[in-house]
Amino acid sequence: MLNYFEEIAKIKVNKSGGVISLHKPLLLLLTIADVIHGKPNVFTFKEIEKPLKMLLGKYGLKNTKTLKPEYPFVYLNSSPNLWESNIKRQDLKNPDSVSRSEVENASAQFPPSFHSFLQNIEQAKILVIQLLNEYWPEAYHDDILRDLGIEEIMHQHMNQEAIKKRRGRLFVEEVLDSYERKCAICEQSIRLGDTLIGIDACHVKPIQHFGDDHITNGIALCKIHHWALDRGAISISEERELIISPKLNGSRINEYFHEFSNHKIFVPRNNASHLNESNVSYHRKYVFEGGR
Ligand SMILES: [Zn+2]
Repeated sequence: MLNYFEEIAKIKVNKSGGVISLHKPLLLLLTIADVIHGKPNVFTFKEIEKPLKMLLGKYGLKNTKTLKPEYPFVYLNSSPNLWESNIKRQDLKNPDSVSRSEVENASAQFPPSFHSFLQNIEQAKILVIQLLNEYWPEAYHDDILRDLGIEEIMHQHMNQEAIKKRRGRLFVEEVLDSYERKCAICEQSIRLGDTLIGIDACHVKPIQHFGDDHITNGIALCKIHHWALDRGAISISEERELIISPKLNGSRINEYFHEFSNHKIFVPRNNASHLNESNVSYHRKYVFEGGR
């Protein structure tokens, strides 16, 4: 089966003067919401014109000159695995500028295999979240979902996301406590008033590589050492000493890095909080830029 998450990520958005167009993502959100509501797989232009215009006005970019629903209705055909409109670009008088009268009586549908993918409501919901995350800051999400009429249906899913985030917060607290709120490498611990700034709880085996949210995969680091660990510029030896990539270069690397080379990093007092060697050796093997 096609990977529709990738198909969505590949949507070509019209870029004019470096500004993205939100027409296509809004058309998809509107029609996916229709499927979630159990509507059949036919979208007439007459039906979607008004709600899409409203969405474009509220959530399109302020400097988008056109609030034209006819644009994505035809041009989303450029993603043939996601959209089939019966008016094609080549049918237009001016292929770059569809007019309303040309699509007035047009209709479109999801290709059958995409439609059956969306019949699985959990999959449809994940696509909705993907579209929201890719195109709008989080502050917009609830308002868009409310206008699509799927706020309640999405609720359950969002709660699961919230639980994940809460688990994330536990990880952060546990790591910062165990490492006494300072960078395990340089011991930096900068506060603004009472607020710790610039110290992160970091994953040694990256979560994108299926690393876990457990304290034995966590370490507190300042921003520069966090970045360096994530990019593989530094790693940690079996003896828990800092190792530095021979590829690292540039000004001030002595004070930020080489000064700590082969020094022991800070290790939590509680044995149960120590890094698990399998996570650290994964980092040395797959993330660290050890090359000569
Ligand atoms: Zn540091």
